[in-house]
This record gives sequence, structure tokens and C-alpha cells, in this order.
Amino acid sequence: MNYPVITLKRGKEESLLRFHPWVFSGAVATQPSNIEEGDIVEVHSSDGRLIGIGHYQVGSIVVRILEFGSSRAIDRSFFAERIGAAFNLRKSLKLNRADNNAYRLVHGEGDFLPGLVIDIYGNTAVVQAHSPGMHFCRNIIAEALVEIPELPVANVYYKSETTLPYKAHLDPQNAYIIGDYDGAIALENGLQFNIDWLRGQKTGFFVDQRDNRSLLQHYSQGKNVLNMFCYTGGFSVYALRGGANLVHSVDSSAKAIELTRANVEINFPGDARHQAFAVDAFKYLSDIKKGDYDLIVLDPPAFAKHRSALRNALIGYRRLNARAIEQIAPGGILFTFSCSQAVSREQFRLAVFTAAAQTGRKVRILHQLTQPADHPINIYHPEGEYLKGLILQVE
Ligand code: SAH
Repeated sequence: MNYPVITLKRGKEESLLRFHPWVFSGAVATQPSNIEEGDIVEVHSSDGRLIGIGHYQVGSIVVRILEFGSSRAIDRSFFAERIGAAFNLRKSLKLNRADNNAYRLVHGEGDFLPGLVIDIYGNTAVVQAHSPGMHFCRNIIAEALVEIPELPVANVYYKSETTLPYKAHLDPQNAYIIGDYDGAIALENGLQFNIDWLRGQKTGFFVDQRDNRSLLQHYSQGKNVLNMFCYTGGFSVYALRGGANLVHSVDSSAKAIELTRANVEINFPGDARHQAFAVDAFKYLSDIKKGDYDLIVLDPPAFAKHRSALRNALIGYRRLNARAIEQIAPGGILFTFSCSQAVSREQFRLAVFTAAAQTGRKVRILHQLTQPADHPINIYHPEGEYLKGLILQVE
């Protein structure tokens, strides 16, 4: 294939030779003047060796590498191959089962498809492009998806209005590329969830908490459970299945509370153990009495969306966790998470440690949690790791 060539400054190929898939703007020596956002380019070292090919874009990351060491067509068969390999991994993880059809099929760099996220909900795939290059490939991606053997996808919904760089002026429309709406109930470990990919956050559901929800179920028997930042109520439904004494779900969004109630209702119709409240989390934690709950989940939105917000984010995690540790019943269990990519595992743990110390209670770490295997982390791209969690016991 003949693609336009971007040449790197001397020595700037090192991280790429170790398969880190991003080329930063500071590494570029020369580039053609006529390339456009989303074009496929070849990346060469200063001595003219082909390092790989990838999608070009304007910004601090200028190329996301799709193929290392050789050139090839980026066409439907390329996507069929990569997405097919991603599906084989999910099959081997036993995520595609009669009682489980909600999972992440493609996790960007973790599946060697930088800039692309695909979540599966039954026979609908929700596709999110994070780069102009993937935006331009959306139709061949959708065609590849419906052709993958054994992957039962009939509808492909494209949802990139909020994920593409707005300066690229791509004006993406959220819409079905193939098929249409035909029901939105997906199954996770035998539980039913109404997934609202049309109006919901991200692709409509947080599939990344599946394993952690299962763990919560095992801790729930006979407990008074508080699920903070409940969104679609995932943790609440698992707690009910685990035999909780009562489950209270809290989210500041009225829409989230509606979704949570609907998801509890389809799994446990008329179950009086569950109540949901549309209230600010900090306010709710201040108003309860110490000991009201013996199992608390804290799964807030990313407090630090960028590095610049890191300091305030760490203060936020500390305050929130201190509140929960203060209020939980003696012997209580706290599930606490951070999904901020900019906050490292160590920084999060330090924020929780500081919170614990502030309360003066004895706290032990029982489990250290992370993202599940359908959100793989490319070892050469540690930026792909984002979800961190701790299960604490508070004496
Ligand atoms: N735990 C959920 C995902 C949480 S997403 C799951 O398993 O699916 C984060 C949620 O936090 C969103 O639903 C958002 O509405 C809510 N939220 C954001 N700020 C909040 C606040 N100050 N108080 C309560 N909820 C808040």
C-alpha cells in the first residue's frame, strides 16, 4: 500500500518499537502538508524504516498505530480479522452465553484497535469512535460486525457525538448504521437490564463492573446495602439476588433512579426491600445515621477527566471515602472505586488510606479490584488501565 509518510525525529521510534501505539506530535520531524484528519499514514524512523501504519489526527497524539512493521489495506477484512479475534477472546472468557449477552467486544488499544470501543447488548452492538480515523471507518466496521460467525449482532448503533474531538468538525450523528431498535433488554449473569443506549451515558451500561457486582452479591446476604452513584442499579440488583435485607440506591440523576427502579422491577417485581433516591451523594452520606448500612458501594463518575484535575479529584475521593468509612456499621464492608484514568492505583489507595486514617477506625483491605478481562490492558499501553477498586472491612 502507498500511504503518505510521517517521519520521526531521531530516537523517537523507541516506544513504538516496543509497540506503544501512539505517536506524539513532538516526535514528528516531517509530515506531508496535504494529509487530513482520519487519513491512514505510514510512520517511518529517521533512517527511513517503516515502523507501522495508523490513523492520523491533529492534536498531541498525531497517529494511532493500527499495524506495526508492515503496511496493509485498512478495509473490511482488516476489521473482520481484528474484531473476530476480539470475539474469540470473549468466547473463551465465556461471556457470550445464553444467560449473559452484555460485554465489551472491543476495548481500543487493548484489542489492537486504537480509537474504537464496541459494547454488545444482545443482538445490538453499540460502536463508539474516539478518533476521526475510526469515524471514517464506521460503515465497514458495522459491515464486519454483522458478518462475524457466531456473533449474533443484527443492529449496529453508532454513538460518537460526545467521544470525537469536537475540533475535528465531523458532526457525527448518533444513529443506527445497520438495523434498528428491536428491544433493549440484555442479560448479565442471568439478570435482566434495560439498556438505554439512545439516551444513557457512555454506551448505555457499565459492563466493566460485572465481576465486581458478582463479588458484591456474595457479600450481601442479610445486609443493609447502600449503592451510591447507582446509575442503572447494577450493584443493587445483584445485592437483592444475594439476599440483602434491604437495598437503597442513590444517584443525583432522576433519570438514573428511574432506570434503577425499572431494572429492579424486571428482576424482582414488587420487591419491598428496594428503595431509590435522587439525591446528591455527599448530602445523602451526611444525613444518614452511623450504622444504618453495613455494606456500602461507592462508584462515582471519573473525578479527574484530565491530569489537570488530579489534585481536586484526590481530595474528592478522600472526602467521599472518609464519609462512608465514618458512617458504616461496625464490621461493615465498603466497595470503593475510581474509574479516573488519570488517577493511578497507588494514588487512589493513598486517598482511601488518608480517608481511613482521618476517621480513626481500623480498616483492612480484603480485595483489590480492577477492570474485567473484556477490558484488556495492552501491556505496552498502560494508559488503558482505568478501573481501580478496594473492598474494605471497617471494624
Ligand atoms: N455504579 C454504576 C455506574 C456509576 S456512573 C454502575 O454500576 O453502573 C456514575 C453515576 O454517578 C452517574 O449515574 C451520575 O448520575 C452519578 N452522579 C454524579 N455525581 C453525583 C453526585 N454528586 N451525587 C450522586 N450521584 C452522582
